[in-house]
Amino acid sequence: MKTDWTLIQREEEAQLARLAAACVARLGKPGLPVDALAMLQRCRATTVLTARQLISTQMPLPEPMRAALRKCGALTWCRGEREEERRYIVLYRDDLPPAERRWNLAHELGHRILRHAFSETVEERHPKEEAAADLFAGHLLAPQPVLRALCGEKGEKEAAKMLGMPGKMLRKMLGRYVFFTDRHLEETICELLLGKFETESIQKADENR
Ligand SMILES: [Zn+2]
Repeated sequence: MKTDWTLIQREEEAQLARLAAACVARLGKPGLPVDALAMLQRCRATTVLTARQLISTQMPLPEPMRAALRKCGALTWCRGEREEERRYIVLYRDDLPPAERRWNLAHELGHRILRHAFSETVEERHPKEEAAADLFAGHLLAPQPVLRALCGEKGEKEAAKMLGMPGKMLRKMLGRYVFFTDRHLEETICELLLGKFETESIQKADENR
């Protein structure tokens, strides 16, 4: 889905970046790429299914949602009227390349973390919410200090490979200039994702900022 990232103000994006970093820190799983699927599976009242697995559950996914899933690659299906019985079923296409799949899952995680409302019908979303979910995904899979260190050292193509995200999205994220205000969180993320060895080069990149 095409989204307009200019809908998000700089301060809002900084907030998204911090939220995404907090998610990475909480997952506590070191190394790249960031495991967006594991994060979603940890969300409350959430089941993550591939489009294929859905068929075996025989749940009647409404046709407009089926079409949306084909088009977007992933969506969240919210079932149950009342809050306490609500279930979130995240559906994703596993026939897409891993990088795209990961991006789509990170985007859906963004909707959940940002508490966007899910309708039971088609995912007719607010453009600003779509942009926010996208930027959350970008900052989750490629936290700025990690992204810059990797691109500087290995080049964009290799960085995209290591981060496990679509090259197109990596280039878009390189156009963002959002840094955490929380130095400790930044260091934690770099250490978690890059390991101690690489953080030295980040400090160097920092000095040149
Ligand atoms: Zn969305």
